[in-house]
Order: sequence, then C-alpha cells, then structure tokens
Amino acid sequence: MTGETLNAFRMAQQQFDHVADLLHLDPSIREFLRWPMREFHFRIPVRMDDGEIRIFQGYRVQHNDARGPNKGGLRFHPSETIDSVRALATWMTWKCAVADIPLGGSKGGVIVDPSTLSIGEKERLVRGWVQQMWTNIGPRRDVPAPDVGTTPQMMGWMMDEYSKLVGNYTPGVITGKPVGGGGSLGRTEATGYGVIYTIREAFKRLGMDPKKSTASIQGFGNVAQYAAIGFKDILGGSVICVSYWDRDDRKAYTVSNDTDFDPVFLQSITDQYGAINKEKAVAAGYMIEDADAWLKKEVEVIIPAALEGQINAESVHWINPSVKMIAEGANGPTTPEADAVIKEKGIFMIPDFLCNSGGVTVSYFESVQNDGNYYWPKQEVLDKEDHILTRAFNDVYEMAESEKVYMRDAAYMVAIARVVKAMQLRGWV
Ligand code: NAD
Repeated sequence: MTGETLNAFRMAQQQFDHVADLLHLDPSIREFLRWPMREFHFRIPVRMDDGEIRIFQGYRVQHNDARGPNKGGLRFHPSETIDSVRALATWMTWKCAVADIPLGGSKGGVIVDPSTLSIGEKERLVRGWVQQMWTNIGPRRDVPAPDVGTTPQMMGWMMDEYSKLVGNYTPGVITGKPVGGGGSLGRTEATGYGVIYTIREAFKRLGMDPKKSTASIQGFGNVAQYAAIGFKDILGGSVICVSYWDRDDRKAYTVSNDTDFDPVFLQSITDQYGAINKEKAVAAGYMIEDADAWLKKEVEVIIPAALEGQINAESVHWINPSVKMIAEGANGPTTPEADAVIKEKGIFMIPDFLCNSGGVTVSYFESVQNDGNYYWPKQEVLDKEDHILTRAFNDVYEMAESEKVYMRDAAYMVAIARVVKAMQLRGWV
C-alpha cells in the first residue's frame, strides 16, 4: 500500500469535511457520510493455464445507497488498495447525486495486472469475483461497470455468471456491456460529449462565443477523443493540441496543429490505449512537442482528460493567462494546492464529478433499457444525456452564484444536500 493511494481517501474525506463545514452539517450525518456504509474484502481462487491455483485479493466498497442502488466501476490494477477503492466509491456517490440520477456510489477492485493474464484466466477471475459477490450485487443493490483494466467483454462474462447463479437472464446487474450483449448505444461518446455539454453551458453563462474559442486537451483516450470531436463538431470551436503517453519512448508528447487540427483523423491513427502514431501525425503536418506543452498553450479552455494530479503546485503556474476555463474530463486532475491557485486567479472551473458525469449517466440509461428490455436509438441516448448534464451544470452554477462559492464547492454542496435529503426521507438520520 503506498502513501499516495492512502491519500486518495484522505483527500475525499478532506473535500467532504470542507463542504460539511460550509453546510453546517449535523455531526451524526457527517460521521455517516465520511465512511462507506459497507465493504467486502474477499479472496478469489483462480485456476491458471498452467494448472496452478492462484489467489487474488478482491474488494467492493458501497459508500452510500440512500438515493438508489450503488453504482461504480471495477478496477484491475496491481497497486489497487482498499483506500483507493473507498475514495472512488465516495466520489461515485457525489457524481450520481450531482447528475441527479437515482443511484448511490460504489467501486470494486482486484489487485492484479490484467496484462499478465491470458483471456481464459481473465474470464475465470471475473467469474470468480461474481461468485464471491453475487449475493451483494444486483440491479436493485449494486451495479458494477468497467474501469481501469476491465473491458466490455469482461462485463459480458460477469453478467452471464450472475444470470446463471440467480437462474434468470439479468442484464441490468452490470453496465458497460458490449452493444448487442445488452449494452447501450452512445456509451463510447458519452463521457467526452458530456464534457462538451457542460462547456457549452459554461460558455453561455460566461458570455463567451464557442466559435471563437480554442481548446487544449491532455490525453487522447476515450474521454479526450470525444471531447476533441465534440469541441469542434458540437460547439464549432477549434482544438489545437492533445497529448498522449508513448509506450515505446516511455514519455508523454503533445501533438499540435494551430491551424488545421482534425480530431477524427488523429483518432484514425491512435491505438486502443490512446497512443498516437507520431510518424503519421508528423507526415500529416502535426508538430510533436514535449509533454507539458498542452498546459502552456494560448487557448481559452483547457481539458485535462488523462490522469489524476496533472495540474499541481508546480504546473499550475504554466497555465497561460489566456485560459478562462478548465473542464476536468479526468477524475482528480487538479491537486488541492493547484485548486487554490486557480480559484485565486479566477479561472472558471467545471469540476470532475460534474464534468465527466456523462459516462455514469449513460450507464444508468443502459440499466433502464435493460429493465425495460427496449433499446433506444443513439441520438435519443445522447439527447437524454444532454438534458441531464445541462440541468446538473445549471444546478451547480446557480449554487455557486447564490452562495458565492467556487464551482467545486458548489458541486459538493448540491450533491451532499441531495444525499442527506434522501437519508432523511428514509428516516436514516
Ligand atoms: P484512456 O485509457 O482511454 O485514455 C487515457 C489517455 O491518457 C491516453 O491517450 C493516454 O495515452 C494518455 N496518457 C496517459 N498518461 C499520460 C501522460 N502522462 N501525459 C499525457 N497523456 C497521458 O482513459 P479514459 O477512459 O479516456 O479516461 C481518462 C480519464 O477520465 C481518467 O481519469 C478516467 O478515470 C476519467 N473518466 C473516464 C470515464 C470514461 O467513461 N471513460 C468516465 C469518467 C471519468
């Protein structure tokens, strides 16, 4: 267990404590929400291809289900810890509440490097996870989804295992399934487009013209690709660079083109891990710059959409004075020290659990479609997502205006108030 991962839960508790103070939250409610309601720690035996049995450590943390069944991804990562899972479960509670979808917050994990497993070993591991947890998950209890290190195919195997154990086809036990296997159209675009819907609303509130705006993006994976496409196609603005991690060179690069940036072309030369083919990019007129160049660009909007902790005490000072808005596509891209500087500078912040809540929103739509056994066309999914994110953005913006608080604090205030209300209505507190 590393200090860094321990800090994630401490950070989640600190953020909560700060807003609990602003809300003058009752001490018993505060004590309830600082910790997850339930945690499951279990061992998963898996027969490996060589015939040996290997034992894996698994977790599921259910932070709070006052507003509905718990919802959250399942991570396969070698440095997964109970504290990182607790932090992520807590943030899921706030994310679902701020989007006002009727779900609670959870997260799961297995300590494993999935790239070291064969396909058969992965299948036996995810089926083993379900065998340990099936009495405590379900469409009305807790609904897992893919996350770091897990894939739609694994969700399909997990749904199959659960359905066999309960004796009924139950697609709503898990989301992020492949389309054709109970998945929803629009899930691939959902998080990146959601980022764009919140930016569009922010432009309106700030009186900025999207068509005259430029953006710089960190990352070029699922979220960043659709944020880049949406910034151009939905908003009519221009993206001038993205960045990515180059596995061969073991470093990150910024890929830029100030005049003719085409995200769809770049997507066509990007692999499934979000790595751009830099030779092809150079041949097409793109410039390859160092990893930090994306943050120094003269643009109106920056969209960190790669990793946590990228805007920190040092790098926050590289942000160009032209930047008016930060839209956090990634989870936790800004450290608390950097956040204080951004607040001081008056840069408009769209905080992560509001900005990237489009993903969980369409996951919620997937379970609604599974329940109804009726599947919506893609445009209907995206229109419904837009409606939810527009409302969520405006709820948070109005809270920030009326209480004169920073957007991140306002998002917490909206989310915590909704969870507390549900707990009170149910007579828990
Ligand atoms: P991804 O794995 O598809 O893409 C990650 C991208 O970041 C890749 O292009 C990779 O090359 C790049 N990258 C990695 N290290 C980098 C570095 N040091 N510098 C620059 N680029 C780097 O991941 P994703 O699904 O797009 O998720 C990105 C972020 O968004 C994560 O924080 C994730 O938790 C968050 N998020 C994702 C979703 C979703 O639906 N995919 C939903 C909510 C939040």
